[in-house]
Amino acid sequence: MTARTPIRIAIVGVGKIVRDQHLPALAKNPDFELVAAASRNATVEGVANFGSIEALLAEGPAVDALSLCMPPQVRYDAAHKAISAGKHVFLEKPPGATISEVEDLKALADAKGVTLFASWHSRYAPGVEAARKFLAGTTVRKASLVWKEDVRRWHPGQAWIWEAGGFGVFDPFINCLSIVTHILPPLHVTRALLDFPENRDAPVAARIDFAGANGLTASADIDWLQTGPQTWDIVAETDAGRMALSSGGAKLAIDGKPVQDEPEREYPALYERFAGIVRDGVSDVDVAPLRHVADAFLLGKRNVVAPFFD
Ligand code: NAP
Repeated sequence: MTARTPIRIAIVGVGKIVRDQHLPALAKNPDFELVAAASRNATVEGVANFGSIEALLAEGPAVDALSLCMPPQVRYDAAHKAISAGKHVFLEKPPGATISEVEDLKALADAKGVTLFASWHSRYAPGVEAARKFLAGTTVRKASLVWKEDVRRWHPGQAWIWEAGGFGVFDPFINCLSIVTHILPPLHVTRALLDFPENRDAPVAARIDFAGANGLTASADIDWLQTGPQTWDIVAETDAGRMALSSGGAKLAIDGKPVQDEPEREYPALYERFAGIVRDGVSDVDVAPLRHVADAFLLGKRNVVAPFFD
């Protein structure tokens, strides 16, 4: 493949995020040519469509890469098949249901000489790099993570997200953790309280405490039942002032003064990154955000709360 040959890509698991983000981002990126899709109940216009990844790999047009966008509980199997077939793989976040399966896929990708990309879209929010640079030049004392959104607005009718391995409120909060693990010094979970609706197998809210070196502490307040304004804020008290990264990483202010406020282009940036690592022949697989989620479940005290109905 030369630098100018488009990467032939297929999408697997055509649902909300594919329609909202993947298809528009791919349509505008000349590094990719979308040639096929595999989904049990959905199709993508203008490309070859298959009912399963097995049918796509066996009967489909030649592809170099696959984007796997189905829920995390079923992603390992598809990724294993794709990598085994010598394809580069883009994993939606979270990259899997467990750390072990993601590490297994990374080892397989290395052995097969293909690129594996554990994508973390929030790391590409416009304020994140400026926040990372600001924090790298100072000492962070304390951080506060507040992630409160309305599940009915963002995940209407999605059953998998409430099942074991679906992450519950950690599905959005892992976006916060993907930023935190990129911009803040190392932290580890010290305490977690998880609220499980009595009729669901995944939490709807949580409070989490973290600690780091030299007295650094952080706390998280996460909730999936917030109606009205949505809150996706990371605040850090530092020796150089108070850093507030809000709107999921889009807006950055230092001591109340706006530093960055640009429209987001997370998925275009994700596909630029994927094209770059495919061309360079490397992988990008960071399990740090997933590890914090696993630790919160390991340490978490379980509270049973009111049932959740869509
Ligand atoms: P979704 O629409 O519920 O699921 C995507 C598609 O996956 C479904 O339409 C379905 O297509 C397929 N699928 C569902 N269950 C499956 C199963 N058991 N086995 C095989 N395929 C199955 O979910 P989504 O919102 O697009 O989210 C998918 C992934 O993207 C998640 O990991 C999520 O965290 C991530 N993500 C979502 C958003 C968002 O705003 N929604 C944002 C960023 C990232 P078929 O029935 O046609 O096979």
